[in-house]
Amino acid sequence: NANVVIVGAGHAGVQTAASLREMGHDGRILLIGDEPDRPYHRPPLSKSFIASPDADLDPLRSEEFFANNDIDLRLGVRARNLDPSTQRLDLDSGEKVHFDHLILALGSRNRTVPIEGAALDGVAGLRTAQDARSVRERLGNAQHVVVIGGGFIGMEFAAAAAAMGRTVTIFEAAPRTMARAVSPDTSAYLEGTHTAEGVSIQSGATVARIEGLGGAVSAVITGDDRHIPADLVLVGVGALPNTALAESAGIATGAQGSDGILVDDHLRTNHTAISAIGDCARFPAGPTFRRLESVQNAVDQARCVAARITGSPEPYQRVPWFWSHQGKVKLQIAGLAAGVDRSVVRGDLSSGRFSIFGYRGADLVTVESINKPGDHMAARRILESRGSLLPEQAANPEFSLKEVGP
Ligand code: FAD
Repeated sequence: NANVVIVGAGHAGVQTAASLREMGHDGRILLIGDEPDRPYHRPPLSKSFIASPDADLDPLRSEEFFANNDIDLRLGVRARNLDPSTQRLDLDSGEKVHFDHLILALGSRNRTVPIEGAALDGVAGLRTAQDARSVRERLGNAQHVVVIGGGFIGMEFAAAAAAMGRTVTIFEAAPRTMARAVSPDTSAYLEGTHTAEGVSIQSGATVARIEGLGGAVSAVITGDDRHIPADLVLVGVGALPNTALAESAGIATGAQGSDGILVDDHLRTNHTAISAIGDCARFPAGPTFRRLESVQNAVDQARCVAARITGSPEPYQRVPWFWSHQGKVKLQIAGLAAGVDRSVVRGDLSSGRFSIFGYRGADLVTVESINKPGDHMAARRILESRGSLLPEQAANPEFSLKEVGP
């Protein structure tokens, strides 16, 4: 009959509450979220939601779900102070709550750009439903859109804005877009499709400052002193984990909190009654620690914690996977690209349907699929079961991926 308190009502927090009930937890569940909206899917905010003025938020669960499952959901309420020794949490509503288990599912927040003009009206990030509503409204009246950062969110937003007929320029400081997440071939393919839709991609280029007129953005000035008109600037330069609540309570975090809340392989912090999951958590992965920002990671970590609390503890060991929709392109990634030293292509790059298999030494570690969902599902299964797939087999479209066993 343990009393479980979950802070953060995003993908990880809501899944924890749902999985606890599915797995038979019959104690109290209090789910606290500081956003005012009923919990919703975050990925559409940079895709379908932004592209259509009438699109609604896509709820994570129905309105009745929380009441039917006896989940005490508090929205627009922020947890502001945590005392691990007495197992108490202070809410900004003035309430103090006691917990037997506390789950920190605090998510992450957007990085900002430390340049002149970054606070002008019309310079925005995209993380919450509130952000997305105001960016969407702005986009409705904008003509010239500048995107700072060619990562997932910047590229997705650029595709949506270009499809609406806006002039779109992406500035990416690295030599290529999406460099941290995908292979050079996949970056090149995505850049080609964006360019074909009229997006200007400026790689290896920075924005030095942003100019305004009457308090609203009017242009960006590049590092090499070019003047690009802009009435909307979308900043997509990555995210930082929300760690302040944990740090101020003396819970261990990575370097300066910027790396996330440290957890063990069962996702417990250095206080065993307190767990951290999703975007805010830094967890062991082989000889090192990692922090991931994806729905898969948030949901699977939620299930792992719920299983432990209901008496079936298992270490967290899932193969990460991601997706990104950029215009007509559906990219799916299984595994992680770090350390890849050999890549082979399955299919034809020019066909717009192919997969890239990345190897570290003899080991397959990641597969990027463009408009090839069958390859993606097979890749997840192969990576999960540590199946052996030689590069020659991966590159041969006649070789069936279904045949690969552990
Ligand atoms: P969140 O969903 O961010 O939830 C955390 C919640 O905790 C937030 O509501 C936050 O406000 C709240 N909170 C924080 N501190 C407190 C406090 N002290 N008190 C109360 N509440 C608090 N991932 C994919 O896999 N595929 C995609 O296509 C994709 N697209 C994305 C597009 C956008 C625009 C964004 C922003 C993210 C996208 N992601 C995508 C990433 C994915 O949404 C995140 O990895 C996922 O939401 C993480 O879930 P979470 O529960 O850890 O954090």
